[in-house]
Amino acid sequence: MSTQPPAQRKPNLDSVTTINQDGSRYFLHPADVQGRFTRWRRMVGALLLVIYVALPWIPINGFPAVFFDLAERRFHFFGLTFVTEDLWIAFFLFTGLGFSLFYITALAGRLWCGWTCPYTVFLEHIYRRIERIIDGDAPSRRRLDAAPWTGGKIARRVIKHALFLLVSAGIAHIFLSYFVSIERLYGYMRQSPLDHAKAFGVVTFLTFALYGSFAWFREQFCIILCPYGRIQSALTDDNTMVIGYDYQRGEPRGKASDPNAGACVNCSRCVQVCPTGIDIRNGLQLECIGCAACVDACDEVMDRLKRPRGLVRYDSLNGLDGKRTRIIRPRVILYTGFLLLGLAMMLTFMSRLHSSSAEVTRLTGQPYYVTDDAVRNQYELRMVTKRNVETTFTVRVVDAPPGLQLSGLEESIVIPPQSEVTRPFFALMPKDDYKGKFILKLQIDVSPGDYHVEDSVDFLGPSAYLFNEEREKAKAP
Ligand code: SF4
Ligand code: SF4
Repeated sequence: MSTQPPAQRKPNLDSVTTINQDGSRYFLHPADVQGRFTRWRRMVGALLLVIYVALPWIPINGFPAVFFDLAERRFHFFGLTFVTEDLWIAFFLFTGLGFSLFYITALAGRLWCGWTCPYTVFLEHIYRRIERIIDGDAPSRRRLDAAPWTGGKIARRVIKHALFLLVSAGIAHIFLSYFVSIERLYGYMRQSPLDHAKAFGVVTFLTFALYGSFAWFREQFCIILCPYGRIQSALTDDNTMVIGYDYQRGEPRGKASDPNAGACVNCSRCVQVCPTGIDIRNGLQLECIGCAACVDACDEVMDRLKRPRGLVRYDSLNGLDGKRTRIIRPRVILYTGFLLLGLAMMLTFMSRLHSSSAEVTRLTGQPYYVTDDAVRNQYELRMVTKRNVETTFTVRVVDAPPGLQLSGLEESIVIPPQSEVTRPFFALMPKDDYKGKFILKLQIDVSPGDYHVEDSVDFLGPSAYLFNEEREKAKAP
C-alpha cells in the first residue's frame, strides 16, 4: 500500500462531484479534520445519539419518555398521553417544528443539516468513523478502493460491512423500541422471529435500508433526495448565516510567498474535507450541508501560515461582501410570528388536555321509544382514561325537567387503567311529566384528578301537542 492514492476529483459548478460523466457513482472519501467546530459537532452528535438510545429507557409516569404505543393507539410524550382523538394537536406540533426549521434556516442556514439531522449524525459520527478505523485515512481509503482484491482487502471489507450491518441492526431495534417498548422488544428478541413476523419484517427492512443508505448511498441522500435541501434556497437570503469563502480576501489565489496573491494558498484542504465533495470557493451551493468542516480545515491552514482565521467562515453573503448583516428582517419576523403563534396554541390546547375524558352520545337506531308509562331515550357513555390507574366516573343530571331518571348506569363506574369503555344507558321521562323535547345536561365526575366534564344531549319524544291529544284520548271513557 505504498503507491500514491488516486487523486481526489476536482469539483466544479457544472456537475455533481459524486456522479461520474457516465452516470456511475464517484465514491467520496472526505479527509479528517480537527478544529473547534468539529469538536462541537462531535459533542452535539454524541449527545443526540445518547438521547436517541436513552429515550425508550427513561420511564415517566410508568411509560417510556417517548413511546408511540401502536398496540393501544396511544402516544406518550414526557408524561403526557395522547389518544387518537388528540391527534389534531399534532398539527400544531408539526407546523411548529416546520416553522422552527424555517426560522433557523432563515437565520442560520442549514444548521439543522450539518449539526443535528439524524442522517448526518449517524453517517458522520458512526459509519464514517468505523470506516476510518478499518480502512484508514482518506488517501488510504482511496488507495484501497483502487487496489486489486487481495486477502487483506477482502478481510477489511468483510469486517467493515459486518460492523455496518451490526450498527444498522442496532439502530433499527432502537427505532422499533419507540413503538413497542424495550421490554416487549426484548421479549420478541428471545422468541422465534416467526412469532412476531411483522416486527421482525420491519426491523429487517429497516436494517437493510439503513445499511444501504449509510454504507453506499451516503451523501447522495442530502444532494439528491432530501426535500429540505431543495427548499432551503427559498428560505434563505443575503443576510442568512451560511458558510462562505471570503473571496475579497482570498483572491487571487497563489503561493504563500507571492506578495500579490490573496490569502487563499489554493491548498484544497477545504475541498478534501467536504463530505459532499464541493468547493466552497465556488460560492454557496445546494450540496453544502453547513457542516463547517471546511471552516476548520481553512483555519488550520491559516494558523500554520500565521494569518488571521476566517477566510472560510460563518457569515452572511452580505457580510462576505463587506456589507452589514441584518438579523431582524421581514421573513425572520414572519417566521417568528408563526412560530410563537403555533407554540402558544399548542401550549394552550395541551394545558386543557385531561388524562381522562368522557362523552355522551345518542345510540344509533330509533330516536325514542314510548312505553306504557314513559318516553325513553337511549344513549351511550364513552369513558377513556390515559392514566395508569383505575379511574372512576360518576354521572349526574345537572339540568332536566322534573321526573327524569337515568337507568342502566351504576352509581360509579370504575374502568381499568389505560382503557376505553362504553356503557349504554336510558333516560326515562314519565309520560305525565313529558312536555316536549328538551336538552338533558349531564355532569360526569372523574376521579382521580377530581375534575368534571359537562355534556348535553337532546331528549327526544313525540310532538308534545300530539302526545297530549293522544294522552287525553287514552284517558277518555
Ligand atoms: S462546503 Fe464546507 S460546510 Fe459545506 S458541506 Fe462542504 S465542508 Fe461542509
Ligand atoms: S483551505 Fe483555505 S487556503 Fe486552502 S484552498 Fe481552501 S480556502 Fe484556500
